Parts: sequence; C-alpha cells; structure tokens
Amino acid sequence: MEFSKYKNIQIQKIKSLLSEWRTREEPINHSEVYRFLHSIQGSAGTLQLGGLHQLSGHLLSKLKLMEDRQWEKEELRTFLDELINLTDEYETFSSTEYGNNKDHRFEENVPLIQIIDDDISMIILLKDVLEESGWMVAASTDPKKAISQYYDLNPDCVIIDIHLPGINGIQLLENIQQHTHQHFVPKIMMSLMNDRETRMKAYKLGADDFIEKPIDLEELTVRIAHHLKKKELVDKLVLIDELTQVYNRRFLPHVYNRNLRDMKRNKQPFSIAILDLDHFKQINDSLGHINGDKILSAFAAFLKSHTRSTDIIFRFGGEEFVIILENTHQLEAAESVSRWLTKFSKTPLQIDNKTLFITFSAGIYTINHQEITLETALMAADQALFTAKANGRARVEIANDTIVDLPKRKLLVSIIDDDPIIRTMLMRILNVMNFSNFDLNLAEFGDGVQFFKSNRLEEKGEHFLIIDGVMPVMDGIEILQQVQKIKHSHNIHVLMLTGRKSEADIEKALALGADDYVTKPFSIKELQARIQRLIKRMK
Ligand code: GH3
Ligand code: MG
Ligand code: MG
Repeated sequence: MEFSKYKNIQIQKIKSLLSEWRTREEPINHSEVYRFLHSIQGSAGTLQLGGLHQLSGHLLSKLKLMEDRQWEKEELRTFLDELINLTDEYETFSSTEYGNNKDHRFEENVPLIQIIDDDISMIILLKDVLEESGWMVAASTDPKKAISQYYDLNPDCVIIDIHLPGINGIQLLENIQQHTHQHFVPKIMMSLMNDRETRMKAYKLGADDFIEKPIDLEELTVRIAHHLKKKELVDKLVLIDELTQVYNRRFLPHVYNRNLRDMKRNKQPFSIAILDLDHFKQINDSLGHINGDKILSAFAAFLKSHTRSTDIIFRFGGEEFVIILENTHQLEAAESVSRWLTKFSKTPLQIDNKTLFITFSAGIYTINHQEITLETALMAADQALFTAKANGRARVEIANDTIVDLPKRKLLVSIIDDDPIIRTMLMRILNVMNFSNFDLNLAEFGDGVQFFKSNRLEEKGEHFLIIDGVMPVMDGIEILQQVQKIKHSHNIHVLMLTGRKSEADIEKALALGADDYVTKPFSIKELQARIQRLIKRMK
C-alpha cells in the first residue's frame, strides 16, 4: 500500500500543531502534550513511521512520570527537541524519495514573475496562483520600489496594474521599457478599464499583453506560460547583449571550452577576470536607472576599445562583466586589468550635464589545468572579486591557487522570532543548507529589541533577516521600519513570516522593503527553497 501521502499528512499535522502552539499566548497544558504524543504514537505505528512511533512512545512514558503541569514554550521545545528534529527529517526524506510527484514550486531556477499592483489582496491571490503553477513571484505595491526590484531581480515576466498611486502603470511601463527594449522581458498590463484607448497606448509603449480585471486566472496562467516560452526561445537565439553590445553569458561556455582546447595544444594557461562596477546601486539611486544603463554601455565601450582583440568580453549580469584573456598568465592578466582600471577611473563620464568618475573592482583566476570547469573558475574569480571589494574597491585581486578551500563570502543570517520552536526549526534548516559561495553566520533573537541591542547589523557583510511578523515586543513591521533607517539598508535582505489573515501586515512589509513573505504555517521545504532562491538572487 502507498503510505506516502498519509505519512505526509501526518507530518504536516504534527507541524501545524507545533506551529499553533507557538502563537498561543498562554502556557500549554500537560494533557494537550500528552494527547499530542499519544496520537502520534498511534498513527505513526500504523503508517510504518517506525522512528516516530518509538520516539513518541519514549517521550510519552517520560511524560507519564512527571506530575501535571503547565508547559512554557522554551521547556517544551527542549522536551520535544528530538521529535521536531525527526519530523523535519521525515519531511526532507519523503520529499526527496517521492521525486516523481515533484513540486516545481520548490525548485530554484524557476521563472520569476514580478507583479506590481497596489491592491494587496490581488497580489496575495496572484502570488498564490502563480506559485501554484510553478513560478516564483516577487511583488511590490510601490512603483518606486518596483523599479529597483525590477533591476535587482531580473524577472522573466512583469505584470503591471495600470492604476497605481503616484506614477501610473503606463508611466512605469515606459520607464522599464527604456531598459527592456534592450532585452526581451514580456510585460503584461492589467486593468479594470479595458477601453480601446488604454489598450492601444499600452501596446504602443511595448506591452506584450493586456488583461482585464476581474481576471480569469486560468487564462492568465496559460498566457504567462506562453510568454515565458517565447522568452526562452528568444533568449536562446541571442548571444549579444543589446544594451552593451558585448557577448552575453550564454556564449561564455563556448569560449571557455575553446580556450581549454587551445591550452591543451599550446600548453599556455589562460585567465578569466570578473569586473564589477563599484557602488553602482548608488549611481542608480541618484541618477536613475536609465542613466545607470548609459554608464553600463559606456563601460562596455571603454572595455572594447582598451582590450586586445583576443580578449573576449561578456556581460555576465547587471553590472558585472567577464573577460577571457586568451594565452595569458596570472600576472600578465592582473597587469592588464589594473591598467584598464587606472585608465577607466580617470575617464570622465558625461551624464545629464554632469561629469562623474567611477571605478570597478576585479577578481582574476588563471586556468592551467584541463580539469578546471567554467563554474570553478568563475567561483574562484568571484571570490577574488569579493576580496577586492572587501579590501576597499577600485582594485584587482588574484584568486588563490588552492581552489579547493576557497574562502566563502560571509552572509549574516538573523532569525527574529519569539517562538523558540520556530527558531530552533529555522536554525536547523539553515544549518543543513548548502550555499556554494556563502558561509552562513547564524544567530537567533527572541525579539527586535534584543536584535538591535546586539548591534548585529553593524557587523560587516551581507545580511539576511528572517523576521516574524507578529511578536509581543516590537513586531516585524517595527523592525523593518528601524532597518530602513540604517544607511546600508539596501544590503539587508528580508524574509517576513506572516499570518495568512494579516493582509495589512503583508502590505506594510512589502512597502517597507521586505523581499518576500511566507505565510504560516509553511512547509520546511517551501521555506528552504525561498531562502535558497532569495540568497541566490542576491548576487
Ligand atoms: P559594490 O561596490 O559592492 O559592487 O556595490 P554595488 O552597489 O555595485 O552592488 P550591487 O552588486 O549590490 O548592485 C548592483 C546594482 O546594479 C543592483 C541593480 O539594481 C543594478 N543593476 C543590475 N542590472 C542593471 C541594469 O541593467 N541597469 C541598471 N541601470 N542597473 C542595473
Ligand atoms: Mg554586482
Ligand atoms: Mg557593483
């Protein structure tokens, strides 16, 4: 008999009760804990969840020896520690074991849809439905935040509501269109008003589709799928980045492999460099993204005219460029890149009648062995780039030769939740997660006051906060408000945990710059995937 479904239901039941206990103000009754363990013992046996059956039996007999009492959350957590652990393990296990009914929502590389709408219940609904269809969704209610999110996250499809506060959807479309006509991102406009004039205007400005509110969700899903498919095709065909007119990253493996073959023949190493503009976010913030784009193309033009004809330039991502220097030793590569840096930092850029100077940082790695994959080489160069940033920017660093033990970037993850059970669970999840280029530094806090007192945010490095929305002392929203006042708040990424019912909280959280939210109760797998994706997109 196929038990997996029932096993999952059982595990979810355990978890949801644990999560219900967390929101409870009063202590938990002895008899409740008893019933809980008793029921697990019974059903776990039936469902052949052997470990769980045994453990709950063991805890039950321990419980019987104690006198009737009220349980505080903290002691209950200690008492149930092993059980929570085991439940998590079952969940991870069952989700990997039954791979055939895989839930695509939880994969990392799924397309990202950005929704811009000031109607929070619409956002919640669309996010649910689209994530159900297997896509990841980023949402914002504020047009200004939406624009920076658009550049930060690089979505695969954008859905824009026409009626937005301040700037309307059409203007927003116009703004991002100046960027996207450079590369293909399908844009779907959404409106209550479906008059011909509005539609024409939207199409003229480059909208790819137009849907009417109230939305037929099934049709919307089909249309999005269609747009995404088209985008995938277009992306495959394009090898040149429109904005900067250098190769895009899809062409990189081809060139890399060609260099590996050459190396085999001529026994000469070759080098790879990653260049990243310094403080580019500030430039975008102060001059606007359109001017940011101009700087990117000016930088690419500079590189093209200063590199040798054998150096191949790629736009690797936002403001990051990769250069492959054919037949080039480490020091020679470092010399070249340093020369470009000196020259570029003295090159005046004319933007909006202003003259400005900017710099970049670079990391270099030299490939001298057939076994080194592109991925390894990029990671090593990226690590060197990170060192260059850490050492003050506007400089070039060479990667360590020992690529086995690459030092990783530090990511400070702080969990702020008043519920010890949730904290333990999150700590456990994060402890077993593996990020290829981040070293996690974890810390947990029972409330916001403790968190700010600890001066954690003053520690150098990137920050990732997982904040409970509802807490007795300083709730999640207050924490976000405080965080926003911090100078480097753009280096702080936030995942909010919210209650299903608190629309107002979700709205506020998004308005205050949270990057994503998860409604409780959540599955570990889902949370894990979200954390993984947010951290991956952070680069
Ligand atoms: P650092 O010196 O550490 O590199 O600081 P930074 O501000 O450059 O760092 P980060 O890499 O975090 O920021 C890069 C920004 O580049 C984020 C994103 O909004 C922006 N960006 C990415 N792609 C584009 C693009 O195509 N056009 C514009 N204008 N901005 C982009
Ligand atoms: Mg960057
Ligand atoms: Mg940068």
